[in-house]
Amino acid sequence: MSEVRTRIAPSPTGDPHVGTAYIALFNMCFARQMGGKFILRIEDTDQSRSTRQSEQDILDSLRWLHLDWDEGPDKGGDFGPYRQSERTAIYKEHVDKLLEDGHAFHCFCPEERLTELRKEQQANKLQPGYDGHCLNLSQGEIDFHLNEKTPHVIRMKVPREGVCIVPDMLRGNIEIEWQQVDMQVLMKSDGMPTYHLANVVDDHLMQITHVMRGEEWINSAPKHLKLYEYFGWQAPVLIHMPLLRNADKSKLSKRKNPTSIGYYQKMGYLSEAVVNYLGMMGWSMPHLEGEESQEMFSVSEMIEHFDINRVSLGGPVFDTKKLDWLNGRYLREKVSDIEFAHRFTDWAFNGETIHQIVPLIKQRVERFSDVAPLAGFFISGMPPITEADFEHKVVNQESALKILQFIAWAIETLPQWHRDRIEKLLMDLAGQMEFKIRDFLFPLFIAIAGTSVSTSVIDSMAVIGKDMTRARLRHAIEVLGGVSKKGAKKLESEFRGVTLN
Ligand code: GLU
Repeated sequence: MSEVRTRIAPSPTGDPHVGTAYIALFNMCFARQMGGKFILRIEDTDQSRSTRQSEQDILDSLRWLHLDWDEGPDKGGDFGPYRQSERTAIYKEHVDKLLEDGHAFHCFCPEERLTELRKEQQANKLQPGYDGHCLNLSQGEIDFHLNEKTPHVIRMKVPREGVCIVPDMLRGNIEIEWQQVDMQVLMKSDGMPTYHLANVVDDHLMQITHVMRGEEWINSAPKHLKLYEYFGWQAPVLIHMPLLRNADKSKLSKRKNPTSIGYYQKMGYLSEAVVNYLGMMGWSMPHLEGEESQEMFSVSEMIEHFDINRVSLGGPVFDTKKLDWLNGRYLREKVSDIEFAHRFTDWAFNGETIHQIVPLIKQRVERFSDVAPLAGFFISGMPPITEADFEHKVVNQESALKILQFIAWAIETLPQWHRDRIEKLLMDLAGQMEFKIRDFLFPLFIAIAGTSVSTSVIDSMAVIGKDMTRARLRHAIEVLGGVSKKGAKKLESEFRGVTLN
Protein backbone atom coordinates (compact mmCIF):
# COMPACT_ATOMS: atom_id res chain seq x y z
CA MET A 1 0.00 0.00 0.00
CA SER A 2 1.15 3.50 -0.70
CA GLU A 3 2.14 5.83 2.11
CA VAL A 4 -0.76 6.93 4.28
CA ARG A 5 -1.42 10.66 3.89
CA THR A 6 -4.05 12.45 5.95
CA ARG A 7 -4.94 16.10 6.15
CA ILE A 8 -6.95 18.75 7.86
CA ALA A 9 -8.36 21.50 5.74
CA PRO A 10 -9.55 24.33 7.97
CA SER A 11 -11.19 27.41 6.54
CA PRO A 12 -9.65 30.56 8.03
CA THR A 13 -12.95 32.27 8.67
CA GLY A 14 -13.01 32.67 12.43
CA ASP A 15 -11.45 31.68 15.72
CA PRO A 16 -9.50 28.42 15.84
CA HIS A 17 -12.13 25.89 16.88
CA VAL A 18 -11.62 22.98 19.29
CA GLY A 19 -13.34 20.83 16.64
CA THR A 20 -10.44 21.57 14.27
CA ALA A 21 -7.94 20.47 16.92
CA TYR A 22 -9.95 17.31 17.58
CA ILE A 23 -10.01 16.34 13.91
CA ALA A 24 -6.33 17.30 13.59
CA LEU A 25 -5.40 15.05 16.51
CA PHE A 26 -7.08 12.01 15.02
CA ASN A 27 -5.63 12.65 11.57
CA MET A 28 -2.19 13.11 13.05
CA CYS A 29 -2.36 9.96 15.21
CA PHE A 30 -3.57 7.86 12.32
CA ALA A 31 -0.87 9.13 9.96
CA ARG A 32 1.93 8.81 12.53
CA GLN A 33 0.93 5.33 13.52
CA MET A 34 0.95 4.22 9.92
CA GLY A 35 4.31 5.88 9.35
CA GLY A 36 2.62 8.31 7.00
CA LYS A 37 2.29 12.07 6.60
CA PHE A 38 -0.12 14.60 8.05
CA ILE A 39 -0.84 17.66 5.93
CA LEU A 40 -2.31 21.05 6.73
CA ARG A 41 -4.14 22.75 3.90
CA ILE A 42 -5.83 26.11 4.17
CA GLU A 43 -9.23 26.23 2.48
CA ASP A 44 -9.57 29.93 1.86
CA THR A 45 -11.69 29.93 -1.27
CA ASP A 46 -14.38 31.98 0.44
CA GLN A 47 -12.56 35.24 -0.11
CA SER A 48 -15.16 37.37 1.64
CA ARG A 49 -14.81 35.51 4.93
CA SER A 50 -11.23 34.25 4.95
CA THR A 51 -8.54 36.27 6.69
CA ARG A 52 -4.80 35.87 7.12
CA GLN A 53 -5.25 36.65 10.81
CA SER A 54 -7.56 33.70 11.24
CA GLU A 55 -5.10 31.47 9.36
CA GLN A 56 -2.30 32.63 11.64
CA ASP A 57 -4.43 32.00 14.73
CA ILE A 58 -5.29 28.49 13.57
CA LEU A 59 -1.64 27.65 12.98
CA ASP A 60 -0.62 29.13 16.34
CA SER A 61 -3.31 27.24 18.21
CA LEU A 62 -2.40 23.92 16.63
CA ARG A 63 1.24 24.57 17.43
CA TRP A 64 0.33 25.33 21.04
CA LEU A 65 -1.28 21.91 21.17
CA HIS A 66 1.78 20.32 19.48
CA LEU A 67 -0.35 18.97 16.68
CA ASP A 68 2.46 19.04 14.16
CA TRP A 69 1.98 18.73 10.43
CA ASP A 70 4.56 17.61 7.90
CA GLU A 71 3.51 19.80 5.00
CA GLY A 72 1.61 23.06 5.04
CA PRO A 73 1.57 26.70 3.94
CA ASP A 74 4.24 27.60 6.50
CA LYS A 75 6.41 24.53 5.85
CA GLY A 76 6.03 23.86 2.17
CA GLY A 77 6.27 20.33 0.79
CA ASP A 78 6.17 18.54 -2.54
CA PHE A 79 2.47 19.10 -3.17
CA GLY A 80 2.10 22.86 -2.67
CA PRO A 81 0.87 25.48 -2.68
CA TYR A 82 -1.05 24.52 0.45
CA ARG A 83 -3.34 27.54 0.39
CA GLN A 84 -6.26 27.12 -1.98
CA SER A 85 -6.35 30.77 -3.00
CA GLU A 86 -2.96 30.15 -4.61
CA ARG A 87 -4.22 27.22 -6.65
CA THR A 88 -6.94 28.86 -8.75
CA ALA A 89 -5.27 27.99 -12.08
CA ILE A 90 -5.32 24.32 -11.08
CA TYR A 91 -9.06 24.40 -10.37
CA LYS A 92 -9.78 26.23 -13.61
CA GLU A 93 -7.94 23.59 -15.58
CA HIS A 94 -9.92 20.86 -13.85
CA VAL A 95 -13.29 22.47 -14.23
CA ASP A 96 -12.57 22.99 -17.93
CA LYS A 97 -11.90 19.28 -18.23
CA LEU A 98 -15.26 18.51 -16.61
CA LEU A 99 -17.00 20.88 -19.04
CA GLU A 100 -15.24 19.31 -21.97
CA ASP A 101 -16.26 15.83 -20.90
CA GLY A 102 -19.87 16.91 -20.36
CA HIS A 103 -19.85 16.38 -16.59
CA ALA A 104 -20.39 20.03 -15.75
CA PHE A 105 -22.36 22.88 -17.30
CA HIS A 106 -22.55 26.66 -17.38
CA CYS A 107 -25.41 28.12 -15.40
CA PHE A 108 -26.45 31.67 -16.26
CA CYS A 109 -29.48 31.81 -13.98
CA PRO A 110 -29.64 35.19 -12.29
CA GLU A 111 -29.83 35.33 -8.47
CA GLU A 112 -33.49 36.45 -8.62
CA ARG A 113 -34.52 33.32 -10.49
CA LEU A 114 -32.76 31.12 -7.95
CA THR A 115 -34.37 32.96 -5.04
CA GLU A 116 -37.79 32.57 -6.67
CA LEU A 117 -37.12 28.89 -7.24
CA ARG A 118 -36.09 28.39 -3.62
CA LYS A 119 -39.24 30.14 -2.40
CA GLU A 120 -41.41 28.01 -4.62
CA GLN A 121 -39.74 24.83 -3.46
CA GLN A 122 -40.15 25.87 0.15
CA ALA A 123 -43.82 26.68 -0.34
CA ASN A 124 -44.42 23.29 -1.97
CA LYS A 125 -42.30 21.49 0.64
CA LEU A 126 -39.98 20.22 -2.07
CA GLN A 127 -36.31 19.39 -1.69
CA PRO A 128 -34.47 22.67 -2.31
CA GLY A 129 -32.01 22.61 -5.17
CA TYR A 130 -31.26 23.69 -8.69
CA ASP A 131 -33.88 22.60 -11.23
CA GLY A 132 -31.54 22.00 -14.13
CA HIS A 133 -32.78 24.97 -16.18
CA CYS A 134 -29.44 25.66 -17.87
CA LEU A 135 -28.86 22.00 -18.69
CA ASN A 136 -31.13 22.54 -21.67
CA LEU A 137 -29.31 25.46 -23.25
CA SER A 138 -28.08 24.96 -26.79
CA GLN A 139 -24.41 25.45 -27.63
CA GLY A 140 -25.43 28.63 -29.47
CA GLU A 141 -27.08 30.06 -26.37
CA ILE A 142 -24.10 29.16 -24.23
CA ASP A 143 -21.68 30.80 -26.66
CA PHE A 144 -23.87 33.89 -26.84
CA HIS A 145 -23.85 34.29 -23.04
CA LEU A 146 -20.14 33.66 -22.81
CA ASN A 147 -19.53 36.28 -25.51
CA GLU A 148 -21.76 38.72 -23.71
CA LYS A 149 -19.86 37.96 -20.50
CA THR A 150 -23.11 37.14 -18.70
CA PRO A 151 -22.21 36.35 -15.08
CA HIS A 152 -22.36 32.62 -14.56
CA VAL A 153 -21.35 29.72 -12.39
CA ILE A 154 -20.36 26.18 -13.33
CA ARG A 155 -22.36 23.34 -11.84
CA MET A 156 -21.75 19.62 -11.80
CA LYS A 157 -24.16 17.16 -13.32
CA VAL A 158 -25.70 14.82 -10.81
CA PRO A 159 -27.77 11.69 -11.48
CA ARG A 160 -31.45 12.34 -10.82
CA GLU A 161 -32.30 8.83 -9.71
CA GLY A 162 -30.84 5.90 -7.88
CA VAL A 163 -28.85 5.71 -4.70
CA CYS A 164 -25.28 6.70 -3.97
CA ILE A 165 -23.38 4.37 -1.69
CA VAL A 166 -20.87 6.18 0.46
CA PRO A 167 -18.43 3.71 1.98
CA ASP A 168 -17.26 4.96 5.36
CA MET A 169 -14.57 3.14 7.26
CA LEU A 170 -16.40 3.59 10.56
CA ARG A 171 -20.01 3.56 9.45
CA GLY A 172 -20.06 1.01 6.66
CA ASN A 173 -22.05 1.82 3.53
CA ILE A 174 -24.19 4.93 3.85
CA GLU A 175 -26.98 5.18 1.29
CA ILE A 176 -27.97 8.60 0.02
CA GLU A 177 -30.55 9.08 -2.72
CA TRP A 178 -29.28 11.07 -5.68
CA GLN A 179 -32.50 13.03 -5.61
CA GLN A 180 -31.31 14.60 -2.37
CA VAL A 181 -28.12 15.80 -4.01
CA ASP A 182 -28.01 19.25 -5.57
CA MET A 183 -26.31 20.12 -8.86
CA GLN A 184 -23.54 21.68 -6.90
CA VAL A 185 -21.85 24.87 -8.01
CA LEU A 186 -18.20 24.01 -8.64
CA MET A 187 -16.94 27.38 -9.81
CA LYS A 188 -18.43 30.65 -8.60
CA SER A 189 -19.01 33.67 -10.79
CA ASP A 190 -15.80 35.26 -9.47
CA GLY A 191 -13.82 32.34 -10.84
CA MET A 192 -13.14 30.86 -7.41
CA PRO A 193 -13.87 27.19 -6.86
CA THR A 194 -16.32 26.06 -4.22
CA TYR A 195 -15.24 23.84 -1.37
CA HIS A 196 -16.39 20.70 -3.18
CA LEU A 197 -14.31 21.13 -6.30
CA ALA A 198 -11.20 22.42 -4.56
CA ASN A 199 -11.39 19.75 -1.89
CA VAL A 200 -11.59 16.86 -4.34
CA VAL A 201 -8.93 18.22 -6.67
CA ASP A 202 -6.55 18.91 -3.81
CA ASP A 203 -7.11 15.66 -1.98
CA HIS A 204 -6.28 13.88 -5.20
CA LEU A 205 -3.28 15.98 -6.20
CA MET A 206 -1.92 15.94 -2.66
CA GLN A 207 -2.28 12.16 -2.71
CA ILE A 208 -4.44 12.05 0.39
CA THR A 209 -5.26 8.43 1.13
CA HIS A 210 -7.66 8.88 4.06
CA VAL A 211 -10.09 11.74 4.50
CA MET A 212 -10.96 11.94 8.15
CA ARG A 213 -13.35 14.78 8.85
CA GLY A 214 -16.45 15.76 10.81
CA GLU A 215 -19.73 13.95 10.19
CA GLU A 216 -21.35 17.17 8.95
CA TRP A 217 -19.68 16.43 5.62
CA ILE A 218 -21.41 13.08 5.02
CA ASN A 219 -24.05 14.65 2.82
CA SER A 220 -21.37 16.16 0.61
CA ALA A 221 -19.72 12.80 0.04
CA PRO A 222 -21.92 11.77 -2.95
CA LYS A 223 -20.87 14.90 -4.84
CA HIS A 224 -17.25 14.24 -4.04
CA LEU A 225 -17.44 10.58 -5.06
CA LYS A 226 -19.12 11.57 -8.31
CA LEU A 227 -16.35 14.09 -9.01
CA TYR A 228 -13.68 11.43 -8.43
CA GLU A 229 -15.54 9.24 -10.89
CA TYR A 230 -15.82 12.05 -13.47
CA PHE A 231 -12.10 12.70 -13.23
CA GLY A 232 -11.34 8.98 -13.38
CA TRP A 233 -9.57 9.05 -10.02
CA GLN A 234 -9.66 6.68 -7.12
CA ALA A 235 -11.43 8.23 -4.14
CA PRO A 236 -9.65 8.25 -0.78
CA VAL A 237 -10.98 6.22 2.14
CA LEU A 238 -13.67 8.26 3.90
CA ILE A 239 -13.93 8.42 7.67
CA HIS A 240 -16.56 10.69 9.21
CA MET A 241 -15.83 11.40 12.86
CA PRO A 242 -18.62 12.05 15.36
CA LEU A 243 -19.21 15.73 16.04
CA LEU A 244 -18.36 17.25 19.40
CA ARG A 245 -21.49 18.09 21.39
CA ASN A 246 -22.65 20.47 24.10
CA ALA A 247 -23.89 18.86 27.32
CA ASP A 248 -27.45 18.91 25.88
CA LYS A 249 -26.14 16.89 22.93
CA SER A 250 -26.60 19.73 20.43
CA LYS A 251 -23.66 20.48 18.14
CA LEU A 252 -20.87 22.19 20.09
CA SER A 253 -21.51 25.89 19.78
CA LYS A 254 -19.95 28.99 21.18
CA ARG A 255 -23.29 30.09 22.54
CA LYS A 256 -23.16 27.27 25.04
CA ASN A 257 -19.47 26.47 25.39
CA PRO A 258 -16.24 28.24 24.69
CA THR A 259 -15.18 26.73 21.36
CA SER A 260 -12.11 28.77 20.59
CA ILE A 261 -8.78 27.11 21.38
CA GLY A 262 -7.50 30.54 22.41
CA TYR A 263 -9.94 30.57 25.30
CA TYR A 264 -8.44 27.40 26.77
CA GLN A 265 -4.97 28.86 26.44
CA LYS A 266 -6.04 32.11 28.10
CA MET A 267 -7.79 30.22 30.90
CA GLY A 268 -4.52 28.53 31.75
CA TYR A 269 -5.19 24.97 30.74
CA LEU A 270 -2.19 22.80 29.96
CA SER A 271 -1.97 22.01 26.29
CA GLU A 272 -1.24 18.33 27.02
CA ALA A 273 -4.40 18.08 29.13
CA VAL A 274 -6.50 19.65 26.37
CA VAL A 275 -5.07 17.25 23.80
CA ASN A 276 -5.59 14.32 26.15
CA TYR A 277 -9.18 15.39 26.62
CA LEU A 278 -9.72 15.71 22.87
CA GLY A 279 -8.30 12.21 22.53
CA MET A 280 -11.06 10.98 24.81
CA MET A 281 -13.71 12.36 22.49
CA GLY A 282 -15.21 9.34 20.85
CA TRP A 283 -12.09 7.29 21.42
CA SER A 284 -10.82 5.27 24.31
CA MET A 285 -7.31 4.31 25.16
CA PRO A 286 -6.81 0.60 25.65
CA HIS A 287 -5.95 -0.18 29.27
CA LEU A 288 -2.20 0.28 29.61
CA GLU A 289 -0.21 -2.19 31.62
CA GLY A 290 0.82 -0.84 35.00
CA GLU A 291 -1.39 2.22 34.63
CA GLU A 292 -4.22 2.62 37.04
CA SER A 293 -6.35 4.44 34.63
CA GLN A 294 -6.37 4.82 30.92
CA GLU A 295 -7.82 8.28 31.10
CA MET A 296 -4.51 10.10 31.19
CA PHE A 297 -2.40 9.54 28.13
CA SER A 298 0.09 11.47 26.09
CA VAL A 299 -0.04 12.00 22.35
CA SER A 300 2.82 9.56 21.83
CA GLU A 301 0.91 6.93 23.80
CA MET A 302 -2.16 7.69 21.75
CA ILE A 303 -0.17 7.29 18.53
CA GLU A 304 1.32 4.02 19.72
CA HIS A 305 -2.04 2.51 20.64
CA PHE A 306 -4.18 4.22 18.06
CA ASP A 307 -6.83 2.07 16.50
CA ILE A 308 -9.42 3.79 14.37
CA ASN A 309 -11.89 1.03 15.13
CA ARG A 310 -12.01 2.17 18.74
CA VAL A 311 -13.76 5.36 17.65
CA SER A 312 -17.33 5.16 18.88
CA LEU A 313 -20.01 7.01 17.00
CA GLY A 314 -22.17 8.26 19.86
CA GLY A 315 -21.80 12.06 20.00
CA PRO A 316 -18.93 12.83 22.39
CA VAL A 317 -19.78 15.59 24.87
CA PHE A 318 -17.15 18.26 25.27
CA ASP A 319 -17.64 18.90 28.96
CA THR A 320 -15.49 21.67 30.37
CA LYS A 321 -16.06 20.35 33.93
CA LYS A 322 -14.47 17.07 32.95
CA LEU A 323 -11.62 18.96 31.29
CA ASP A 324 -11.13 20.98 34.51
CA TRP A 325 -10.87 17.75 36.45
CA LEU A 326 -8.37 16.27 34.01
CA ASN A 327 -6.32 19.45 33.93
CA GLY A 328 -6.23 19.47 37.74
CA ARG A 329 -4.92 15.92 37.70
CA TYR A 330 -2.20 16.91 35.25
CA LEU A 331 -1.15 19.79 37.47
CA ARG A 332 -1.02 17.57 40.55
CA GLU A 333 0.34 14.36 39.08
CA LYS A 334 2.40 15.25 36.04
CA VAL A 335 3.80 18.70 36.74
CA SER A 336 6.56 19.12 39.32
CA ASP A 337 6.64 22.22 41.56
CA ILE A 338 9.53 23.64 39.58
CA GLU A 339 7.78 23.05 36.29
CA PHE A 340 4.56 24.53 37.71
CA ALA A 341 6.47 27.66 38.70
CA HIS A 342 8.04 27.99 35.27
CA ARG A 343 4.94 27.32 33.31
CA PHE A 344 2.74 29.54 35.47
CA THR A 345 5.20 32.43 35.20
CA ASP A 346 5.43 31.95 31.50
CA TRP A 347 1.65 31.93 31.19
CA ALA A 348 0.89 34.87 33.50
CA PHE A 349 3.95 37.07 33.42
CA ASN A 350 5.38 36.54 29.99
CA GLY A 351 6.89 39.61 28.36
CA GLU A 352 3.93 40.22 26.11
CA THR A 353 1.24 40.33 28.79
CA ILE A 354 3.25 42.17 31.39
CA HIS A 355 4.31 44.86 28.92
CA GLN A 356 0.72 45.44 27.99
CA ILE A 357 -0.42 45.65 31.62
CA VAL A 358 2.27 47.92 33.08
CA PRO A 359 1.34 51.13 31.22
CA LEU A 360 -2.27 50.61 32.22
CA ILE A 361 -1.66 50.26 35.95
CA LYS A 362 1.44 52.35 36.54
CA GLN A 363 -0.45 55.59 37.05
CA ARG A 364 -2.81 53.98 39.51
CA VAL A 365 -0.46 52.32 41.98
CA GLU A 366 1.83 53.61 44.68
CA ARG A 367 3.54 50.39 45.63
CA PHE A 368 4.12 47.04 43.98
CA SER A 369 1.79 45.60 46.59
CA ASP A 370 -1.05 47.52 44.92
CA VAL A 371 -0.52 45.67 41.65
CA ALA A 372 -2.09 42.30 42.34
CA PRO A 373 -5.46 43.64 43.59
CA LEU A 374 -5.68 45.99 40.62
CA ALA A 375 -4.35 43.74 37.88
CA GLY A 376 -5.45 40.33 39.11
CA PHE A 377 -8.37 40.25 36.69
CA PHE A 378 -6.00 40.28 33.71
CA ILE A 379 -4.82 36.81 34.60
CA SER A 380 -7.98 35.37 36.13
CA GLY A 381 -10.86 33.41 34.75
CA MET A 382 -14.38 34.63 35.48
CA PRO A 383 -14.59 37.52 37.98
CA PRO A 384 -16.46 36.62 41.19
CA ILE A 385 -19.51 38.81 40.53
CA THR A 386 -23.13 38.70 41.64
CA GLU A 387 -26.28 40.46 40.51
CA ALA A 388 -25.76 43.09 43.20
CA ASP A 389 -22.55 44.27 41.54
CA PHE A 390 -24.62 45.55 38.62
CA GLU A 391 -26.70 47.96 40.70
CA HIS A 392 -26.57 51.40 39.13
CA LYS A 393 -28.55 54.65 39.22
CA VAL A 394 -29.24 54.83 35.51
CA VAL A 395 -28.68 51.40 34.05
CA ASN A 396 -31.16 48.94 35.47
CA GLN A 397 -30.68 45.22 35.31
CA GLU A 398 -32.66 44.77 32.13
CA SER A 399 -30.65 47.46 30.36
CA ALA A 400 -27.39 45.99 31.66
CA LEU A 401 -28.35 42.63 30.23
CA LYS A 402 -29.22 44.20 26.91
CA ILE A 403 -26.01 46.22 26.77
CA LEU A 404 -23.89 43.16 27.49
CA GLN A 405 -25.74 41.01 24.98
CA PHE A 406 -25.42 43.67 22.28
CA ILE A 407 -21.72 44.04 22.99
CA ALA A 408 -21.32 40.26 22.83
CA TRP A 409 -22.87 40.23 19.37
CA ALA A 410 -21.14 43.38 18.22
CA ILE A 411 -17.61 42.17 19.00
CA GLU A 412 -18.14 39.23 16.66
CA THR A 413 -18.28 41.71 13.79
CA LEU A 414 -14.82 43.08 14.52
CA PRO A 415 -12.29 41.95 11.94
CA GLN A 416 -9.41 42.89 14.23
CA TRP A 417 -9.01 42.87 17.97
CA HIS A 418 -7.42 46.23 18.50
CA ARG A 419 -8.15 48.80 21.21
CA ASP A 420 -9.09 51.59 18.74
CA ARG A 421 -11.46 49.30 16.89
CA ILE A 422 -13.03 48.19 20.16
CA GLU A 423 -13.36 51.79 21.33
CA LYS A 424 -15.03 52.87 18.12
CA LEU A 425 -17.41 49.94 18.24
CA LEU A 426 -18.44 50.66 21.82
CA MET A 427 -18.89 54.39 21.16
CA ASP A 428 -21.05 53.60 18.15
CA LEU A 429 -23.12 51.10 20.04
CA ALA A 430 -23.61 53.37 23.07
CA GLY A 431 -24.80 56.13 20.75
CA GLN A 432 -27.21 53.86 18.93
CA MET A 433 -28.58 52.50 22.18
CA GLU A 434 -28.90 56.07 23.46
CA PHE A 435 -26.79 55.67 26.58
CA LYS A 436 -24.17 58.04 27.85
CA ILE A 437 -20.85 56.30 27.36
CA ARG A 438 -20.14 56.30 31.13
CA ASP A 439 -23.39 54.57 31.92
CA PHE A 440 -23.05 52.22 28.98
CA LEU A 441 -19.60 51.09 30.07
CA PHE A 442 -20.62 50.42 33.67
CA PRO A 443 -21.97 46.87 33.21
CA LEU A 444 -19.05 46.16 30.90
CA PHE A 445 -16.60 47.11 33.63
CA ILE A 446 -18.32 44.70 36.01
CA ALA A 447 -18.31 41.93 33.42
CA ILE A 448 -14.65 42.35 32.45
CA ALA A 449 -12.91 43.52 35.63
CA GLY A 450 -15.47 42.64 38.30
CA THR A 451 -15.52 46.29 39.45
CA SER A 452 -16.02 49.73 37.97
CA VAL A 453 -12.92 51.02 39.74
CA SER A 454 -10.41 49.68 37.29
CA THR A 455 -8.13 50.39 34.38
CA SER A 456 -9.81 51.45 31.14
CA VAL A 457 -12.19 48.68 30.20
CA ILE A 458 -11.38 49.10 26.51
CA ASP A 459 -7.66 48.61 27.12
CA SER A 460 -8.47 45.73 29.42
CA MET A 461 -10.51 44.01 26.75
CA ALA A 462 -7.67 44.50 24.28
CA VAL A 463 -5.28 42.80 26.70
CA ILE A 464 -7.42 39.87 27.77
CA GLY A 465 -8.36 39.17 24.14
CA LYS A 466 -11.53 38.37 22.32
CA ASP A 467 -11.94 34.83 23.64
CA MET A 468 -11.73 35.85 27.28
CA THR A 469 -13.90 38.93 26.66
CA ARG A 470 -16.55 36.75 25.07
CA ALA A 471 -16.41 34.30 27.97
CA ARG A 472 -16.72 37.04 30.62
CA LEU A 473 -19.62 38.67 28.80
CA ARG A 474 -21.36 35.32 28.68
CA HIS A 475 -20.66 34.77 32.35
CA ALA A 476 -22.01 38.22 33.31
CA ILE A 477 -25.15 37.62 31.25
CA GLU A 478 -25.68 34.36 33.15
CA VAL A 479 -25.13 36.13 36.49
CA LEU A 480 -27.83 38.60 35.48
CA GLY A 481 -30.25 35.75 34.95
CA GLY A 482 -29.45 34.98 31.31
CA VAL A 483 -31.45 35.66 28.19
CA SER A 484 -34.36 33.32 27.46
CA LYS A 485 -34.84 31.97 23.93
CA LYS A 486 -37.79 34.28 23.45
CA GLY A 487 -35.90 37.23 24.93
CA ALA A 488 -32.97 36.51 22.64
CA LYS A 489 -35.23 36.58 19.57
CA LYS A 490 -36.57 39.98 20.56
CA LEU A 491 -33.10 41.33 21.30
CA GLU A 492 -31.73 39.91 18.07
CA SER A 493 -34.31 41.71 16.01
CA GLU A 494 -33.53 44.95 17.86
CA PHE A 495 -29.83 44.35 17.33
CA ARG A 496 -30.39 43.95 13.60
CA GLY A 497 -31.65 47.51 13.62
CA VAL A 498 -28.29 48.74 14.89
CA THR A 499 -25.83 49.88 12.24
CA LEU A 500 -22.21 49.54 13.18
CA ASN A 501 -19.53 50.98 10.95
N1 GLU B 1 -12.80 23.39 4.93
C1 GLU B 1 -13.59 22.35 5.51
C2 GLU B 1 -13.80 22.71 6.98
O1 GLU B 1 -13.60 23.80 7.33
C3 GLU B 1 -12.89 21.01 5.36
C4 GLU B 1 -13.79 19.82 5.41
C5 GLU B 1 -13.05 18.58 4.97
O2 GLU B 1 -12.19 18.12 5.76
O3 GLU B 1 -13.27 18.08 3.89
O4 GLU B 1 -14.21 21.93 7.79
